[in-house]
Amino acid sequence: MSALADTAAEVEAPSGPRPVVELDGVSKTYPGGVRALRGVSLRIDAGEMCAIVGPSGSGKSTMLHLIGTLDRPSEGTVRIDGFDVARLRDKQLSALRATRIGFVFQQFHLAVGQQVLDNVADGLLYSGRRGPDRRARAAEALEKVGLGHRLDHLPNELSGGERQRVAVARAIVGEPAVLLADEPTGNLDSVSGSGVMALLHELHEAGTTVVVITHDQDIARSLPRQVAMRDGEVV
Ligand code: ADP
Repeated sequence: MSALADTAAEVEAPSGPRPVVELDGVSKTYPGGVRALRGVSLRIDAGEMCAIVGPSGSGKSTMLHLIGTLDRPSEGTVRIDGFDVARLRDKQLSALRATRIGFVFQQFHLAVGQQVLDNVADGLLYSGRRGPDRRARAAEALEKVGLGHRLDHLPNELSGGERQRVAVARAIVGEPAVLLADEPTGNLDSVSGSGVMALLHELHEAGTTVVVITHDQDIARSLPRQVAMRDGEVV
């Protein structure tokens, strides 16, 4: 966290709902001139659960990259957990990403040769915690997602639904300000997909801020809030 310490004073003292994602007049133009986002403003508060939903090409991935601080806007301001992304140096941005944002991807992105416990413990590599502490916390996170009995398994010994649960455990082990899930059920059969969505709902009920990016209207409707995208705008 030291990389972020000198900008910490910018974070306002909380009073009432605390925004964890704030986009203000955000546009993104890719080289070649495609305007993928056009003046988007959006606020997501701590403890919310929200879908960003829209058809292919509407700007969802671009939004995910900006909220995930994997890319910077062409115009406008992105604030994550109070930090203005434009004002952070690359190292600070990496620290912000590692400590405040948990990612879950459609393709799981687990390390294939590593036991489940170590996959999850790796979510704490940049936390400054020591190995035994990382593994103890990883075991707790796996317990939370219902995989306490699979700690020493390899990812290829698990079903798709179980692999996605491991990815969720890795994303939440560091207690991030926001869990960003990109089409989390896109690679799963409907039963496993429902299980993963139920898990995300459980985490939300326990206080985690959850943002799900999806093209699936049914999934979006099952969440308390929907942000609908079309042609790079929130509609
Ligand atoms: P979605 O995730 O909703 O499918 P995207 O954010 O991927 O939408 O894309 C929005 C628009 O931006 C599309 O027209 C897409 O072709 C374009 N786009 C996305 N990424 C790039 C890129 N790296 N370079 C140029 N154009 C891009």
